[in-house]
Amino acid sequence: MRIKFLIISLFFILISACKTDNARLPKKQVKETNIKTEMQKNIDSYISVKLTTDLSKLSVNQKKMIPLLIKAADIMNELFWEETYGNKQVLLAKVNDKNTQKYIEINYGPWDRLKDNNPFIDGIGEKPEGANFYPSDMQKEEFEAFKSDDKKDLYTFVRRNEDTGALYTVPYHKMFETQLKQVAGLLSEAAVLAQDTSLKKYLHLRAKALLDDDYFESDMAWMDMKTNQLDIVIGPIETYEDKLFGYKAAHEGYVLVKDMVWSKKLAKFVSFLPELQANLPVDDKYKQEKPAAKSDLNAYDVIYYAGDCNSGGKTIAINLPNDEKVQLEKGSRRLQLKNAMQAKFDKILLPISDMLITKDQQQYIKFDAFFANTMFHEVAHGLGIKNTINGKGTVREALKKYYSALEEGKADILGLYMVQQLHDKGEIDGDMKDYMTTFLASIFRSVRFGAADAHGIANMVRFNFFKDKGAFTRNEDGTYSVNYDKMGIAVKDLSQLILSLQGEGDFEGVSKLVAEKGIIDAQLQKDLDRLSDANIPVDIVFEQGVKVLGLER
Ligand code: ZN
Repeated sequence: MRIKFLIISLFFILISACKTDNARLPKKQVKETNIKTEMQKNIDSYISVKLTTDLSKLSVNQKKMIPLLIKAADIMNELFWEETYGNKQVLLAKVNDKNTQKYIEINYGPWDRLKDNNPFIDGIGEKPEGANFYPSDMQKEEFEAFKSDDKKDLYTFVRRNEDTGALYTVPYHKMFETQLKQVAGLLSEAAVLAQDTSLKKYLHLRAKALLDDDYFESDMAWMDMKTNQLDIVIGPIETYEDKLFGYKAAHEGYVLVKDMVWSKKLAKFVSFLPELQANLPVDDKYKQEKPAAKSDLNAYDVIYYAGDCNSGGKTIAINLPNDEKVQLEKGSRRLQLKNAMQAKFDKILLPISDMLITKDQQQYIKFDAFFANTMFHEVAHGLGIKNTINGKGTVREALKKYYSALEEGKADILGLYMVQQLHDKGEIDGDMKDYMTTFLASIFRSVRFGAADAHGIANMVRFNFFKDKGAFTRNEDGTYSVNYDKMGIAVKDLSQLILSLQGEGDFEGVSKLVAEKGIIDAQLQKDLDRLSDANIPVDIVFEQGVKVLGLER
């Protein structure tokens, strides 16, 4: 699973702006200007960021491994292109405009990932639901009728025989045989250089897995790695790209350098989970379950993104592996991508705070607080209750379409509650004002995800709940001030409300809460419009690779 961080709203202002500009121009010119202006603004909605890290802590061998790992990850770009669209070069050759070509590269295709996959090139139809994993003319019924043992496999393409029209499958390791042999070679070469034995083992097993599409052993080995400083997540991983069935995994690669200092701190926090569960501000009957203890949590700097994770809005936290068999035996690992978070903090959250947080509280908007809040959100998913206490089954079953929004809301609020608890114990540095003020600023960021997104709804509910409890005040100058004591109380009250709604599996109660509080009122909308008018970027793109890292020989 992965978590993205998107802001989607610039589009509408752009369109209206273009309309007024073009009213005065002759017709032919209108069209060209229109395309240029819109495309330039599309490009500008992504702000460019250099992906680097402190390499001075790495050994000579590790520095030799990085170019090999980056080369291996880079090949994932080519595979992902085939999975999401088809032939990249043919598409690029059809387009003359440099900006449009650039936007195609950012989106890995002609559909805008920040705008519901709308096509941004004339004459291109809708994006096929099944991307390029299936024939674009294949209907669901045809797939259901197709007799095949591996048609639902994570690692097969479905294709159509041109002569007979019949469907057939092609395993990834056959489809991409040439490229994957190259990747396996690079990983094996890196394995030879690896001094950490668990990393060495993983790299060998991963190389093998790519050649036969059996990832189990390599996933197990990946979970066993604890002391490695370098890491690579590579292969067909997430299934979001297959919107038809969600069966097919898409290729991606992350090259990672573990932040040993932060990772050590995080391991300590995870050890507090049982105590934190016991201290939840809710009736005992809602906190009988044991929190997930097997998981581990680490912080990394990413030095290379490729394929699926590099398309459109960028991932800032991942939770792997997805294989439930591995999860049962070894748990899962949460990876916090620190430098990517820092980039989004600097380029998006700070400008939002400049506009919406009152001047004398802006000093409390801090990256460390943003990082901690984001991280404890992840940890908090493991707290609370997974099964209802009244025989309504799991919370997921009972709350149905509201489950995700409430679960995200729970993770947000319990995350801050955990920070508060650990801060009281003296386990976390800094001022509670940092965490609370940064938390409020993050709400403005996240309500912009809109009502179509679970995080968006969760943030609207929390914003209105906080407002009713007096946790913040809106000032006459259009900024907001946190009322710290009242926010502390509101955090407890909202935690209690969400945990009991989950424990009771109270579908009616949640739908009432969402109907009443999951809304953006006129005042808030005006404030959000000010953010859009100021052209605060939507997401980031990376300058990355050996050259950026200074590793080019
Ligand atoms: Zn979450």
